[in-house]
Amino acid sequence: MSSEIEKVLCLIIGSGPAGYTAAIYAARANMKPVIYTGLEPGGQLMITTDVENYPGYPDGVQGPAMMDDFKKQAERFETDVRYEIITKVDFTGPVHKVWTEGGTEIHADSIVISTGASAQWLGIDSEKRLMNMGVSACAVCDGFFFKGQEVAVVGGGDTACEEASYLSKLCPKVHMIVRRDEFRASKIMQERVLKTENIIVHWFSETDEILGDTEVTGVRIYNNKTNEKTVLPVTGFFVAIGHKPSTDIFKGWIDMDDVGYIKTVPGTSKTNIKGVFASGDAQDNVYRQAVTAAGTGCMAALDAERYLTEMGII
Ligand code: NDP
Repeated sequence: MSSEIEKVLCLIIGSGPAGYTAAIYAARANMKPVIYTGLEPGGQLMITTDVENYPGYPDGVQGPAMMDDFKKQAERFETDVRYEIITKVDFTGPVHKVWTEGGTEIHADSIVISTGASAQWLGIDSEKRLMNMGVSACAVCDGFFFKGQEVAVVGGGDTACEEASYLSKLCPKVHMIVRRDEFRASKIMQERVLKTENIIVHWFSETDEILGDTEVTGVRIYNNKTNEKTVLPVTGFFVAIGHKPSTDIFKGWIDMDDVGYIKTVPGTSKTNIKGVFASGDAQDNVYRQAVTAAGTGCMAALDAERYLTEMGII
């Protein structure tokens, strides 16, 4: 463990679209950003294949290639990219203290949190094997690939209902696999789903196995009351059982909701701590898109720049 203390004007934690966009803006404003990439450099897009909805890529792009472009663009303006994680923070004073896993203590004048979130998965082997080959956790990202095909959505919360509703406009039949006999979703979302003719809800149902070798050809579900098994002939399998924001290290410092999403002042990236800003999926449980994450990363860098100016630091 080293005991050196490093001073940084703008520290960015997390390296998805939000973090790299914040870095591009901060670097071009001469804020000399340092970005800690975290455990999964590049974020959720590193486990995504085709991205067709990010503007500027008319032919689509692979998720990892896109994140490499983000990184190169940030480095072009001399962003200091470090492949390490931040393990502890102390936001008591105007200088925000953070510690890296290697023991370096950093004193940052401003901080942009862009640690993202990750989708929860069922944890069954076939889900892992067929990931991106019909298994997805994002209907808005991948629904288009299943246009005209039969699909299934697992979960009974707002996300699952929204995904099923979105898919019902593209697909002739959408099966919802719900483990209890009721939804967790808000009344309005439940009603929307139940009124949609091509959404079929399977109550008391859980996933036994997703079928297929190199692509999804069906899913075997079972009724957890009767144990009766049914095969649904779907080619797309959407898991919508919740997300977990990666915000544990900020607990006790930064205001969050019950799930751990960071609360920001509406219309800004400001958190309850002056000089600490939040962007991307760490603070967004509604849109969760690469382009919205990038947009809020830009907001966070601009808010940080204004803060440093107001404080007379730059
Ligand atoms: P939720 O935690 O609200 O719901 C998760 C759903 O998945 C529940 O139906 C749960 O079942 C089910 N589930 C969990 N684990 C499993 C499992 N292993 N197998 C099968 N089913 C499982 O997550 P959401 O992502 O839907 O929503 C998160 C938050 O974001 C909520 O507060 C929601 O309101 C909000 N949100 C708001 C939106 C909006 O305002 N437009 C859009 C999307 C989300 P059970 O009920 O039995 O536990």
